[in-house]
Amino acid sequence: MSFNSLGLAPALLNALNAEGYSEPTPIQREVIPAVIGKKDVLGIAKTGSGKTAGYVLPILHNLQAATVSSYREPTVLVLVPTRELADQVQQVFQTFIPFLTGRVTCLAVSGGVSINPQMQAVGKADIVVATPGRLLELVEKNAVRLSSIGTLVLDEADKMLNLGFKEEVDRILTLLPLKRQNLLFSATLGDDLSRVQQVVLRNPQVIKIAAEVDEIDLIHQLAYLVSEEKKGPLLRYLIKHGDLKQVLVFASSTIKADGIVNKLLKNKIHAASVHSKLSQQTRRDTLRQFKAGELRVLVATDLLARGIDIEFLPCVINYELPRSPKDYVHRIGRTGRAENPGDAISLISPEEMDHFKVIQKKMGKRVKILSGDQLDLQGY
Ligand code: ADP
Ligand code: MG
Repeated sequence: MSFNSLGLAPALLNALNAEGYSEPTPIQREVIPAVIGKKDVLGIAKTGSGKTAGYVLPILHNLQAATVSSYREPTVLVLVPTRELADQVQQVFQTFIPFLTGRVTCLAVSGGVSINPQMQAVGKADIVVATPGRLLELVEKNAVRLSSIGTLVLDEADKMLNLGFKEEVDRILTLLPLKRQNLLFSATLGDDLSRVQQVVLRNPQVIKIAAEVDEIDLIHQLAYLVSEEKKGPLLRYLIKHGDLKQVLVFASSTIKADGIVNKLLKNKIHAASVHSKLSQQTRRDTLRQFKAGELRVLVATDLLARGIDIEFLPCVINYELPRSPKDYVHRIGRTGRAENPGDAISLISPEEMDHFKVIQKKMGKRVKILSGDQLDLQGY
């Protein structure tokens, strides 16, 4: 099936062609007509299944169909949990915007960088992709009004509706028109659906793309049971022995992440970290380097667990398990995206074993566990 029958404007079909998107993914097939039809959508589909273009394309279609220029305020608001994801989503919009005939502008606003340029530009953008904190700062400074928002997107919706963002998201919701289109996306859904109902005031079209029974898992999961002190040598063994060229390693804290990087560097493995204690410029540069294949190992906290798309990333390693089983799903989902397979390896200490059982149960999948302590890690 091609994109042609989904109702998208010819300009966008040309854009898809130029970008080499030959056919819609299953979630795109259903979401695109629903969004064009101005429905509310709750879209649940696995990591890497193309949810972003699933909302970006019909939103641009609808903007183009409306007379955009009559608005002097943003009409589309996309909320995301991290600065890195705000940049990435803005880039997806920017990929397609040049193909449109009318003038449409999209701006990412998030913290960690000077607010001044954002203050100048945000009020005039048609589409704003934001982290909640910085958006509220801009509202308080009267740089932008949200009273013309006709479409609200919550990407990583369960995270955005989680306690951590509750106060900020609730405040933003009070600033939006009641009559609006709501689009919620994630690979995982929280247990508490009442929060979803709070945002989606109308009956949403629930689009859930479940994995088919015979579908081959694109993410090959594996775990090593290993004593805590041998995790470092095992990590280096996996990288060197496996000749891994591009690995994303998840650690449980900023201090842990930096410690892992230092050990890798001492062992002459090119590595750097991305976490909340680093400057935004460093975070941005390091992620760009890693995406470009110029950095062998990126060690990150859960800051990069959600939404980040690294093309063809072959391997994710959990140095430690995340507390939340959902975060495990998102972390390993940085690989095995867009039909490209990948490996997800977890290093499990005996203390973490019970928690790993919980994660497997919640995920509904058993993971093969090898013994790390039986490997000869001498010299690593
Ligand atoms: P999700 O949000 O579902 O985790 P993304 O929207 O980040 O996934 O998309 C994952 C990758 O798939 C991106 O690199 C994107 O460019 C690619 N992609 C999306 N839609 C298509 C398509 N129809 N054909 C080919 N590649 C696609
Ligand atoms: Mg996504």
